[in-house]
Amino acid sequence: MSEESDLYFRQIAVGEMANLVYLVGSRSTGEALVVDPAWSVDALADQAEADEMKIVGALVTHYHQDHIGGSIFGMEIEGLERFMERCPGPIHVQKLEAEGVAKVSGIPRGEFREHSGGDTIELGGVKIRLLHTPGHTPGSQCFLVEEEGQPSQLVSGDTLFLGSCGRVDLPGSDPEQMYESLNGTLRKLPDETLVFPGHLYSEEAHSTMGEQKATNPFLRVANLDMFLQFMGA
Ligand SMILES: [Zn+2]
Repeated sequence: MSEESDLYFRQIAVGEMANLVYLVGSRSTGEALVVDPAWSVDALADQAEADEMKIVGALVTHYHQDHIGGSIFGMEIEGLERFMERCPGPIHVQKLEAEGVAKVSGIPRGEFREHSGGDTIELGGVKIRLLHTPGHTPGSQCFLVEEEGQPSQLVSGDTLFLGSCGRVDLPGSDPEQMYESLNGTLRKLPDETLVFPGHLYSEEAHSTMGEQKATNPFLRVANLDMFLQFMGA
């Protein structure tokens, strides 16, 4: 990042399932959004406060408990409910994911701001583009953080991991959609785009699209049939 960048961006490891959450905002306006507030909502809000940033909403990558809170394997994970108590501002979800987010979080669907792929949210000089990337879940979305004169940053949720991709053998998963999301939507992003995944399943915590295109086997399959074979589908 150069001196002139308006971007406020923090990657924070939370919880017991190697989740990575993000604070994304504009230094000039002092406003930030939290991507997937879960596990330690207060710690995230405290971090933003310590950075003199005001949280103005949440972005949801998808409806799994480790990203939005809820009950899994007999464990209660804190998430969107705590977020709504502590922080003001809308919870941005993909419209195809809204029902699942409501079901898992226990928050009525009417509380969410529902989006289509391609929608953008602007904070100062920072634009966040919502990319619909189904496959892991029907309404999975990635966030492309754009700023004039800077390389973009992709917050890739459980769609693209460094060297791998999200599971497609879960309820609501679709391997064909995952192929299209990875090799259609995400592969088109410029090589210099920085990649920030939803879990730390790799040695490094971030990468570039160029590196992923060159080394991630799930971005290197020649066609859908090969991808499905590779996924064991
Ligand atoms: Zn997931």
